[in-house]
Amino acid sequence: MNIQQIVLSTRPTGTPTSDNFKFESVPLPAVQMEELLLQPIFFSVDPYMRGRMKDAKSYIPPFELNKPIESGALAKVLESKSPAFKAGDVVTGMLPWRTQTVSPARDVKKVDANGVPATYFLGILGMPGLTAYFGFLDIGKPKKDETVVVSGAAGAVGLIVGQLAKMNGCHVVGIVGSDEKASLLKADFGYDEVINYKTTADMRASVRQACPKGVDIYFDNVGGAISDAVIGNINFHARIPLCGQISLYNISEIPIGPRLQPMLLTRSVLMQGFIVSNYKDRFPEGIQHLTEWVKEGKLKFKETVVQGFDRLPTALLGLFSGDNTGKMIVAV
Ligand code: NAP
Repeated sequence: MNIQQIVLSTRPTGTPTSDNFKFESVPLPAVQMEELLLQPIFFSVDPYMRGRMKDAKSYIPPFELNKPIESGALAKVLESKSPAFKAGDVVTGMLPWRTQTVSPARDVKKVDANGVPATYFLGILGMPGLTAYFGFLDIGKPKKDETVVVSGAAGAVGLIVGQLAKMNGCHVVGIVGSDEKASLLKADFGYDEVINYKTTADMRASVRQACPKGVDIYFDNVGGAISDAVIGNINFHARIPLCGQISLYNISEIPIGPRLQPMLLTRSVLMQGFIVSNYKDRFPEGIQHLTEWVKEGKLKFKETVVQGFDRLPTALLGLFSGDNTGKMIVAV
């Protein structure tokens, strides 16, 4: 039997396009001992995958040319040759972009959805949720009445950071790329103020207006000129969890911005980059708290679901044009 797979056929320069991907039909191998035959139900697409399209050393190896792309996925077990799984189980793990796949059983974990949507394990109860939890609480160290600015505020990580900030009694300001996202954050996710960076001429002045007492925590998802504008308003002893720099992922030559060090020094600011896997020993703690807060209704979440295996590349590229609100996932 043949299955479909999507491989990286060329490495992009600048913004990736559909030409960087190729669809192939390949035979499905037989299932061996300690392996599972899996039917992916949902794939996650995430901004860090752009980094894996480059041939550059990083905290995670690059995708190989002419090999399937892989990403976080939720899948159903169709056949099991491992005593730990049975047909019908739902599992999560990093899976290749294939319509069906044979995977070592040790590479996936059983999902116990226990009253929450299983897709949350790709979002609020998965990597993005843990990123928000540890980046904001461990590095941001919020205190009541502080002012928090979140860029990429309507995305998977940003939606959660804003709500954690409200739970900690902070004044919360989001930065997003559309008026619809801005209205949604204020109406449904507790943001006090939201700035649309695409229609704002003077970002530094807008941040100053939205943050009359200055910025105590800046959760940076995007980098570039947006971050320069926020850091221009940074307070004494502020914290900056450096989570992502999506505005720079498709640029080969990073532009020189303002020299930030004098400001960070004179205002005693902590800016700390982090990768969520730094916290892997504490993941159970994060999952436990996030699950409790979701079940208690303290944390809400939103997903943008793109339909169809063949639209995986489109969904991934859509992250760079802001097509998603909340977690971008693809229903296979
Ligand atoms: P996401 O926010 O759900 O999706 C990306 C969003 O970024 C888009 O919806 C878009 O929203 C915004 N964006 C795209 N291009 C932009 C640009 N040039 N300038 C400003 N905003 C832009 O993605 P996510 O999964 O939650 O990730 C958010 C950030 O965290 C990313 O930078 C990602 O790399 C990083 N991250 C880091 C870790 C870690 O371990 N450190 C883990 C997960 C994610 P708008 O419509 O608002 O522009």
